[in-house]
This record gives sequence, structure tokens and C-alpha cells, in this order.
Amino acid sequence: MSNRDYYDVLGVGRNASDDEIKAAFRKLARQYHPDVNKDPGAEEKFKEINEAYGVLSDREKRARYDRFGREGLGNMGGFHDYTVDFSDLFEELFGSFGFSTGRSSRRSPRRGRDLQMQINLTFEEAVFGVEKEIEFQREEICSRCNGSGAEPGTSPVRCATCNGQGEVRQVRQTFLGQMVQTTTCPSCNGRGEIISTPCKTCRGGGLERKTVTKKVQIPAGVDRGTQIRLAGEGGPGVYGGPNGNLFLVLEVEPHKFFKRRENDILLNIDINVAQATLGAEIEVPTLDGTEKLKIPPGTQPGKVFTIRGKGVPYLRRKDRGDQLVIVNVEIPTKLTKEQRELFEKLAQSLGTTVKPKEKGFLDWLNETFGG
Ligand SMILES: [Zn+2]
Ligand SMILES: [Zn+2]
Repeated sequence: MSNRDYYDVLGVGRNASDDEIKAAFRKLARQYHPDVNKDPGAEEKFKEINEAYGVLSDREKRARYDRFGREGLGNMGGFHDYTVDFSDLFEELFGSFGFSTGRSSRRSPRRGRDLQMQINLTFEEAVFGVEKEIEFQREEICSRCNGSGAEPGTSPVRCATCNGQGEVRQVRQTFLGQMVQTTTCPSCNGRGEIISTPCKTCRGGGLERKTVTKKVQIPAGVDRGTQIRLAGEGGPGVYGGPNGNLFLVLEVEPHKFFKRRENDILLNIDINVAQATLGAEIEVPTLDGTEKLKIPPGTQPGKVFTIRGKGVPYLRRKDRGDQLVIVNVEIPTKLTKEQRELFEKLAQSLGTTVKPKEKGFLDWLNETFGG
């Protein structure tokens, strides 16, 4: 192998940054990789590039090389015994080789699982709020072993395979020279410890499934699809991570008479022809009991009356929406003899002219709600 200067080999200056060195190596490696470049000597060249990178990418080796040259490396970085953790770069270069590094340690803190459950409310409960007792299942830290997974009285032992690190480094001999690959320890699955006597409750998993009951205050004004987040009530975090959350998704039963449009309550009522024509005072139901409503003479079908403040409370305000009363005028389908005579008289008195129709209820609905 040549004795060329490592900086010359990579074609970088003596002050090159780590990134510049890495970039130069990447470029040359691509060019001279024996799988790509079939020229005789390409492999030699590749090894040389590789060796240079092995030294210059390591801060300590590079410092020694800068001061003392190759001799300074001694057995740190001679021809054959340098080791570089190439795995990430290798993967980046030749992803298809499919090296999995498993570097993300399983011991890093992780947030617990989020849970979700549906809560059914009556129409009134959604409008006025309610306290609900909910029951759900979640995993919790095992109470018998406190999450260690080891039967009380015993304790986990440090994993001998990885020496408690949770990761193992494998040295592979490849055409790149030696490669170090770090993977999750297969013996302990990354925990760093081995449980020889597993806890009887959780069988070593450290978690147990529990049924939890909880009182939840559902605020006034919620609606179908509203989500309520109960922070930290989900699955337990591991390795110091926070618990997950519990999301309550609300479902609301329809009401017999009332419909809801955001914070307004819609109510359809029927009045008869005489009431519409002559006017009337009627009682209409609201969520708070009955209310008197004045129907003025000449009220047309589809007319909407607003009863202020009898709608649904706003979630984060003190006030409420309105109740909208939509009036339908009932045309009688069965008449007594007397009523028939009266209508006939009325018809005579009105003559045969037909008044152009005013805006109807359906038009109004379309206009107001884009129905
Ligand atoms: Zn346990
Ligand atoms: Zn291990």
C-alpha cells in the first residue's frame, strides 16, 4: 500500500472540517467502490481512501497523524487494524446492502400510548354538562414488581452479552476493512438486564392491565365529536417518558323535538290557519321549560322566531345561543261540516285570485343553512 499523505488521498486540505472529509470520502468511495469500478487497482485505491478516512474521521487519530505522521498512529491506525464505525455512512452509500444498525437505543425515554374511548351523552347532558363515571382498561406499571419485571426478592442481573449496554458492537471483516456495526442486544432486547425469575403478575413485562374507573366532568356545551383530553391517563411512559393521554370522544343522542345547529336550538312547531292569520299566544318547549311565544297576525309559514338565550351554552363563555322556533302552518285535512261551511264562506269572500307565494320555509332553510 502506498505511503501517500492521507489528506492528499482524500484531496482535502489540512484544515478540512469533519464534514468536508466525510463528503470527500463519500465522493471517492462512490467512484472507486469495487462493485462499481472494475478497473484493476480500483480496489487498492478504495482501500487507500478507506484507510485515510479511517484516520482523518477520528479526532484523536487525526491529531496524532497531524503531529507525528503515520508513525504516530502506532497500533491505533496502521494498515490493518483500524476500526471505524462506518455503518451510517455505509448505509447512506449503499443502502441496498440493507445493513440495519439498530442504533436507536431502546432505553431512551418513550411516551406512553394514547388511549381513546367513546362516551355517550343524552342531548341534555351535552347541553348542560354532566359528571360521568367512566371505566376503561389500561396498562400500568406492575404493582407487584414495580415495573422491574423481576419477582419480588429477586433482581434483574446485568446482561452479560452486552455488559448492560443494551447494544452490541459487531466487528465485521469486509472489503472496506473492519466495520463496526452496533445493534440492539439480542439477549436482553436492549434492556441491558436479564430477568432470571420473572414477576408472576406481569411475566417479566413490567406492566399489568388494570381496569380504571374515573369521574369526569363533561362541560356544558359539548357536541358530537368533541374530544376531551385527560392528560397522563393513557398508557405508562417507559424509561422516564411521560404517560400517554386518554381521549374521550363524545357521541350525543338526538332529541325528540330539538335539533342543534352549533349553539342554537332549532324547534319546528305547527300552528293552524286561524292562529297564523289572526295571531295567537302559544307555549313552546325550551330546554329550560315552556316559554310563551306571541304569534302576530298574518304570520307566514316558515317564519322564524328567536327566543334569546335559550340555546346551548358556549364552551368557554358564560352566555348561550338562542332557540329558533320555525313555524309551520298546518292546512287542515279533515273538516267538520261547520268548518267546511266557514272555509267556503271565506273562499267566496277572498275571491279566486291567488297571491304570489312568499318565501317558504324550504327557501329559508336553504338560504340560512345552505341546506
Ligand atoms: Zn410485575
Ligand atoms: Zn444485553
